[in-house]
Amino acid sequence: MYAFDYRRPHSLNEADLALKAHPGAKLLAGGQTLIPAMKLRLAEPGHVVDLGAIGDLKGIAQQAGAVRIGAMTTHAAVAESAVVAAALPGLASLASGIGDPHVRNRGTIGGSVANNDPGADYPAAVLALGATVHTTKRAIGADQFFAGLFSTVIEENEIITHIDFPVAERFTYAKFANPASRYALVGVAVAKTKSGVRVAVTGAGASGVYRLAEAEKALATDFSAKAANGVKVDASNLMSDMHAAADYRAHLIGVMLRRAIG
Ligand SMILES: Cc1cc2nc3c(=O)[nH]c(=O)nc-3n(C[C@H](O)[C@H](O)[C@H](O)COP(=O)(O)OP(=O)(O)OC[C@H]3O[C@@H](n4cnc5c(N)ncnc54)[C@H](O)[C@@H]3O)c2cc1C
Repeated sequence: MYAFDYRRPHSLNEADLALKAHPGAKLLAGGQTLIPAMKLRLAEPGHVVDLGAIGDLKGIAQQAGAVRIGAMTTHAAVAESAVVAAALPGLASLASGIGDPHVRNRGTIGGSVANNDPGADYPAAVLALGATVHTTKRAIGADQFFAGLFSTVIEENEIITHIDFPVAERFTYAKFANPASRYALVGVAVAKTKSGVRVAVTGAGASGVYRLAEAEKALATDFSAKAANGVKVDASNLMSDMHAAADYRAHLIGVMLRRAIG
């Protein structure tokens, strides 16, 4: 590891000031992505601002019609939360399937959505549920938040503080995991709310997480495995890599969609 300046502020205000004082500084959450990236010199920030001592960024609370999860809440805490289990059991189940126990005990929801890895699980839940990502500057709707592979609309000097997940009539997530990393080779999240059905796919899109319009249309009038079965998945905008070809991923999306409908 190379030498860098490390700060551990105790409030969001102090974190904000540290970011402003050091352009190019990186925020550190659980370090599950940032530390390996620094070790490999894929990221070489001169200043690191650790969010770990800011109590306001941790925790889970039931709000009117939504579950609020602090950015520094670990995947393990979401998986074990009684609030999440009661309001959005599918989200607790998603969190329990991330990585391994080490990753779930260190990795955070804020780090996951900020990083927007194309195989990450939470982005699918954020998009399918139409969640709102709150930062130190603004509230960002799910449809505006993700901006391509490893990219979001978050700017430098902007800290994700919490995410509000609307409570759905039904929310389920089915993933075909890479057996080595547990990242999604394909993951499909389905949310049924009073205003309709939203379906999001992770792990497969050439531009990252996306909504599957064909499935939303089919399920809006008939929320059934039979309707899901008829959905045609276009492979032309899907990734091909050493793990799976685009047409294989297209097939898996159909399978995961049917599993999510149950
Ligand atoms: C072996 C392994 C297996 C994994 N398997 C899975 C899996 O199955 N599914 C899955 O979804 N994920 C998986 N992950 C990813 C993991 O769950 C973490 O969510 C992810 O690595 C981010 O880690 P972190 O929260 O520690 O953030 P960090 O690594 O600390 O930060 C990641 C990025 O987000 C930025 N950031 C962090 N917090 C904030 C914030 N509050 N506001 C703004 N920017 C912020 C940082 O500056 C950095 O750029 C895996 C990771 C590993 C190492």
